[in-house]
Amino acid sequence: MPSESDHPPSTISTRGCDSHGDGSSVAALTRELMSRRGAHASAAKRQHPVPRFPIGQASNAFRKRFFPDATVQDWNDWRWQTRNRIRTLESLERILKLSDDERRAIERHTGSLPVGITPYYLSLFSEDDPSEALRRTHVPVGEEYLKVPGEADDPLGEDHDTAVPGLVHRYPDRVLFLTTGFCSTYCRYCTRSRMVGEAGGEYHFSYGEWEKALDYLKRTPTVRDVLLSGGDPLTLSDDRLEWLLSRLRQIPHIEFLRVGSKVPVVLPQRITRELARMLKRYRVWMSIHYTHPAELTPEVAFAANRLADHGIPMGSQTVLLRGINDDAEVMKRLMHGLLINRVRPYYIYQCDPISGSSHFRTPVEKGLEIIEALRGHTTGYAVPHFVVDAPGGGGPLLNTTPGGRLGADRVQVRHAAE
Ligand code: SF4
Repeated sequence: MPSESDHPPSTISTRGCDSHGDGSSVAALTRELMSRRGAHASAAKRQHPVPRFPIGQASNAFRKRFFPDATVQDWNDWRWQTRNRIRTLESLERILKLSDDERRAIERHTGSLPVGITPYYLSLFSEDDPSEALRRTHVPVGEEYLKVPGEADDPLGEDHDTAVPGLVHRYPDRVLFLTTGFCSTYCRYCTRSRMVGEAGGEYHFSYGEWEKALDYLKRTPTVRDVLLSGGDPLTLSDDRLEWLLSRLRQIPHIEFLRVGSKVPVVLPQRITRELARMLKRYRVWMSIHYTHPAELTPEVAFAANRLADHGIPMGSQTVLLRGINDDAEVMKRLMHGLLINRVRPYYIYQCDPISGSSHFRTPVEKGLEIIEALRGHTTGYAVPHFVVDAPGGGGPLLNTTPGGRLGADRVQVRHAAE
């Protein structure tokens, strides 16, 4: 894949320049320089044309069938994808054969974490199998309304550690900056299900709230690490995101900026060249939320490689989900696919005990078993950490040291803002 990085300026020979400072010769040299630069830019463009965003075969067939009026250009426009998200029972039923359980669960829904799926991501779902992995992660079922002991709406205690609205500050050197309550798709197991989604979600973006969070950060020199999350920060426009990144970069003690996002997976068309250049300008790292190897389409590969070509360091985050990715072979395929696309497999999370998530949760041993099956059996870079956030936040989590049973030697502390 040709690199899209900006090309270095050409080397201009100074032979023949006017050593006596004659003005007309300077003008001639300037013209020559301009013309050489123009020629260089055209040659570079010819050698490295900006590649067109791809569209996979299955997605293209889906587009023609369900969105016949959408051109490939529309489909590859992230704003079109966002505008045309599937959000109602009627629009979902036009595409999927819903089970009675799914239909009833959608009819019952009120409040935050509504249904919301981009046409692109929906094109990857099975039309008639409710047990298919990606469909299960985004189409509600009745078990979502079942709250079991130990579950809570805010299991990590983020609300308790909110310093100013939208800014969670639990440990001295890092904060979680909740930039928006909006996502392009809504994962049914979301840790912040209490606050994401337009229909009744609590947290809504405003510059005023951002200003308060920025003021707090300016006054708090211990903070060196900011994780932008939400909601999904990459659903913000380039202008808004750049406004925020530029202000964060003006705070001298903030060294490390990360963006947590699922957009490169569910809305890869958002990774435009302009966005990648902007993220590069502000020296941003990315934590990308992948779930299953079925997500590794040509579009997702293109988006990851575009970010990598712009020098954006990327790590993956994957929630361990029962019946979806709780299998060593499935995880291995995912981790290998990430490496191919230059994303470092970083974390597998135990599913947090949010209300109504018991049908997704595996025993903790399952995560350890998967790590054990990967370690020593594949490339070391393909082996992520397995982490468990303690309810209430900031408590112990299980490390992935090899050796079998859980024990005190396998406990490390992880912050909820990581
Ligand atoms: S993209 Fe992230 S914040 Fe949005 S619903 Fe999914 S897990 Fe939650």
